[in-house]
Amino acid sequence: MRIARYWYQGEETYGVLQEERLLSLPFLAKLLGTNLPTNMEAFIEDSTAQRKAEELLKKTRNSELDAVSTLTSETRILAPVPSPPKIVCLGLNYASHVIETNSKRPAQPEIFMKPRTAIVGPDDKIIKPSFVKQLDYEGELAIVMGKKAKEVDVSDAFNFVFGYTILNDVSARDLQFKGSQWTPGKSFDTFAPMGPCVTMSNQIADIDDITLKTWVNGELRQTGCTRDMIFSIPQIIYHVSRLMTLEPCDIISTGTPSGVALAMKPPRWLMEGDEVRIEIEGIGTLTNTIAER
Ligand code: MG
Repeated sequence: MRIARYWYQGEETYGVLQEERLLSLPFLAKLLGTNLPTNMEAFIEDSTAQRKAEELLKKTRNSELDAVSTLTSETRILAPVPSPPKIVCLGLNYASHVIETNSKRPAQPEIFMKPRTAIVGPDDKIIKPSFVKQLDYEGELAIVMGKKAKEVDVSDAFNFVFGYTILNDVSARDLQFKGSQWTPGKSFDTFAPMGPCVTMSNQIADIDDITLKTWVNGELRQTGCTRDMIFSIPQIIYHVSRLMTLEPCDIISTGTPSGVALAMKPPRWLMEGDEVRIEIEGIGTLTNTIAER
């Protein structure tokens, strides 16, 4: 299931995003005389509810599902996890990005964090403070944790994953490289666009072979494959869960492949009005435009 959080007729709900349909899970459950968690965060940490939702969808006729679809022009898709306990990010995790930035290949994961106040959803604006002159995009695959995880083994790591989404690790390079810590350049409000949905891990056949693409104003800038990651998803969970306890709904963004503005000669920084579109196979597309403040 691809699960999206959205706004429909004055209410926030969540549901299953299909080709032509968006099915509110709490609404569908109610219709069938049962219930499911009322919000997406509660659904993410409730594996019994997830199995129940799968069964409900299986046993409901297509015509009935069409009747409860809420995908209309008034539906507004929101960031799937609005307030995760934390957002952990990997830097320099794709070999191609290490090469393009003349960086040293990390011997262990390069980890930093973004605040949850940076999250915005699909089609929301990325606000560029007027003093930021070197604004960049980073298309990334992000893990959504489903369970509390502490000192997890590599072999067990996938059992703690709920699913995957897209995250744009928006970066102000002029501030990122001013000191020794990356936080100043990574933390502004709107610097973590996320969405459009979370694809549950059981829907992805091979997470080590997923293609990611980023366009700026329709021009293809990044094409990467998760095969190029230096640390795989289980290795990332292994390392991060030794540094901190991971909780349900935590986001781990797994790094970006080559093609960022920083590495272009000359760099082509994001400007007001630019549109960034990121597509990840099996998840969807995340589009945001830049506005200046
Ligand atoms: Mg990044």
